[in-house]
Amino acid sequence: MKKIALLSVAVCTFSMIANAQSKFKSRQDSLEYEAAKTEEWNPIPKSVTPGTNPSDAPSDAIVLFNGKDLTAFQKKNGGAPGWKLEADGAMTVVKGSGDLESKQAFGDCQLHLEFREPAEIKGSNQTRGNSGIWFMSRYELQILDNYNNPTYVNGEIGSIYKQHTPLVTACKKPGEWQTYDIVFTAPQFKDNGDLATPARMTVLLNGILVQNNAIVYGGVEWIGLPKYVKHADKMPLILQDHGLDGGNPVSFRNIWIRQL
Ligand code: MG
Repeated sequence: MKKIALLSVAVCTFSMIANAQSKFKSRQDSLEYEAAKTEEWNPIPKSVTPGTNPSDAPSDAIVLFNGKDLTAFQKKNGGAPGWKLEADGAMTVVKGSGDLESKQAFGDCQLHLEFREPAEIKGSNQTRGNSGIWFMSRYELQILDNYNNPTYVNGEIGSIYKQHTPLVTACKKPGEWQTYDIVFTAPQFKDNGDLATPARMTVLLNGILVQNNAIVYGGVEWIGLPKYVKHADKMPLILQDHGLDGGNPVSFRNIWIRQL
């Protein structure tokens, strides 16, 4: 009799465990079903292979300069580029030779670029290693040596020139290579030429955020306020030869761009 009682307790316990497991399974199924309602499986993003180092061009980037030649560029508005190709894989501004303009035009993009102020640098304020990256030939992200060189803050390195002061000053010493990583969103225009949506820039200087999705107010102006004038959806990228600089040749290397 005792044996039968023990057996029936065992069967009962086993049955309770099985029931609990079954309930758990069905609750799991139910949770997974609910979770699946907000899962998206398509379209699958295109695969991009990163470079070995963060500064290397990923597989879908257009390499504009890899240290070998200047063929992706021309002198602004045409002609052979007058900048100097260096033995160490850099290219350097030759004062008075003019801006460098990409042959290809770009709109929304991600740009990586490295630059170096000369180790022997002179001048002050805006005449100290002044260059710049002009997206769509008109929206300038400033390049300047601001290592112990004060200037107006909306014109220092990392500024969207005379529009946005950088969040922080994050420059290295002259003679050291520095990196810019930029996400640029092109402006949109209405058919009548009015602005529909402004351009935007997110900028990391030496890996440090200096512009966070900043609204660009218009084309760069040295005197007066920026304004928008309708232009094509894609325009060349310009690297600036700052004519008024006191002869401080800025160097560039490793320039690549992803069209977005
Ligand atoms: Mg400049």
